[in-house]
Amino acid sequence: MHKPIVAANWKMNLTKKSAEDLIAKLNKFVYEDVEVIIMPPFTLLDMAASIADNRIKLGAQNCYYKKNGAFTGEISPDMLVDIGCKYVIVGHSERRHIFGETNDLLRKKLAASKQAGLIPVYCIGETLDEKRKGEKESVLSEQLNIIDNLSMPLIVAYEPVWAIGTGVAAEVVTIRETIKLIRQKLREKRVKAPVLYGGSVKPDNAKEIASETLIDGALVGGSGLNADSFLQIIDIFKEVRKC
Ligand code: PEP
Repeated sequence: MHKPIVAANWKMNLTKKSAEDLIAKLNKFVYEDVEVIIMPPFTLLDMAASIADNRIKLGAQNCYYKKNGAFTGEISPDMLVDIGCKYVIVGHSERRHIFGETNDLLRKKLAASKQAGLIPVYCIGETLDEKRKGEKESVLSEQLNIIDNLSMPLIVAYEPVWAIGTGVAAEVVTIRETIKLIRQKLREKRVKAPVLYGGSVKPDNAKEIASETLIDGALVGGSGLNADSFLQIIDIFKEVRKC
């Protein structure tokens, strides 16, 4: 079994000072046996790259698919590699649903990330409405179809949209069944990728989630902004997966 992955998506939060304080606390932790990733906003990546312990990996929250050029406000995968990123989130539900990013656009972002040598954390998940209409499987299938023929290192994060930022995570039985389905689809595509769960992971529910070995780790939002809660989640994955 590979190391569990615990990633923190900071979203549009923190200033230079508060991020420095958070990283200083994270640097004191012993990071063996867990792949820990922090994903600060673009403005904090350079600082994070220079002060974070090198066992903490750096990821960005988004990228554009062009290498360079007249694309005001965008950041290319090459720029992220240049600044020290190993990972990039592609297809976070906030990008899909607030900024209207389509599977077509995300396919281009995945391909561009591959070319630059970044590992995408590719987020998929159904909305509450899609869940209620019984469309979860078809939504996930469509979202996964864009990885056909890409053959690249990839992490998939199952993040039901209705569980993100709500404080209410999906039940472990639901996560297990959905990840089984995702793994089956990945096998059909001959893609090998760890599958994380994201959506209101907190110290309170991390043990239950980490105990389900089909889940390869967690993508954390709110709990990743606080050193104590993020370190508790990492520690829980470390301890549970040791046995
Ligand atoms: C996320 O935004 O990817 C996320 C999982 O957020 P939260 O943990 O706050 O639900």
